[in-house]
Amino acid sequence: MAMANRKKMDEPKMRIKKNDRVRVISGKDEGKEGKVLRRDNVRDMVVVEGVNMATRHKKPSQNDPKGGIIKQETPIYASKVMLVCPRCGAATRVGRAFLESGKKIRICKKCNEIIDRT
Ligand SMILES: [Zn+2]
Repeated sequence: MAMANRKKMDEPKMRIKKNDRVRVISGKDEGKEGKVLRRDNVRDMVVVEGVNMATRHKKPSQNDPKGGIIKQETPIYASKVMLVCPRCGAATRVGRAFLESGKKIRICKKCNEIIDRT
């Protein structure tokens, strides 16, 4: 009997996606809002615009002969942010639903509107 050897791909929780607007709910950046720049599904972390900024000292290089100090976002745990609903503007939990077409979508638990553009 042929067994499917391939494990079903772990589906990302799909709670928060790139370009979502999120609000930080704990930590030093609590209350800040920003756009998700990157997400790391393996570690379940997100990089949010303007959140968890770290200062890095850059050595002078050929491209950047002066070097200097750069500020850069560093990842935070996805559990520390909540999605800001584009419909009602509330920081909300995300529900899931299926469209008639079978497409999976996210819905706002506050206003029950569809978050994803369809
Ligand atoms: Zn909403």
